[in-house]
Amino acid sequence: MNSIGTLNMLEAARQSGGRFLFTSTSEAYGDPQVHPQVETYWGNVNPNGPRACYDESKRFGEAATMEFWRSHGLNARIVRIFNTYGPHSRPDDGRIVPNFVIQALKHEPITIYGDGSQTRSFCYVSDMVEGILRAMDSPGTEGEVFNLGNPDEYTVLEFAEVIADTLGSDAGVVYQPLPVDDPTRRRPDITKAREWLGWEPVVDLQQGIGHTAEWFRQQLQIPVGL
Ligand code: UDP
Repeated sequence: MNSIGTLNMLEAARQSGGRFLFTSTSEAYGDPQVHPQVETYWGNVNPNGPRACYDESKRFGEAATMEFWRSHGLNARIVRIFNTYGPHSRPDDGRIVPNFVIQALKHEPITIYGDGSQTRSFCYVSDMVEGILRAMDSPGTEGEVFNLGNPDEYTVLEFAEVIADTLGSDAGVVYQPLPVDDPTRRRPDITKAREWLGWEPVVDLQQGIGHTAEWFRQQLQIPVGL
């Protein structure tokens, strides 16, 4: 569906002469063997594993976007979005930030998949939106790829501690099985976005988690001081 939808959007942009920005993903790097990830790295993706439909559809989207730029002169660029969090995400989408924040708010143990040594880097949503707008609007970005994300890297276990400390929970952690093909390390190299777009994240993790937790608390009607 990602692939078909992207092709439809590319075709619509070509016919209308619109500007195009493809929201790709850090998953395009798969389980990366280059760390931190730079835009020139081709990635290490399992082409038929449980994450493949998403990863490969985004890689297809990148290839198609660049081909529309090369062959049809479409004004198009690509951003690779790394882990992003904030208010208005679905509480039950299963990702790390909603899970950990809601568990901490309810003083329940935090669910660590695997041993928690895998790493991620977390970007607050307003920083991400600013990066996307700059990639779309800055001159000379056609045919370019930009990593967008926060380069502060945490192990999942460290991240659980930050969330628990920030939200005042002391319910500990529980270990659950690691999903198949879960990437072991992920951190964006954002040198290109800094230089080309004058962009870098400005919201620190505690502040971002605070806003996110407040939103989830209201959505789920979790009493303060539970
Ligand atoms: N994760 C975890 N506990 C959870 C949810 C996620 O330990 O309750 C881990 C997951 O295994 C992965 C990391 O947190 O290593 C980020 O997972 P998420 O699904 O948010 O994003 P992605 O894997 O796409 O980076």
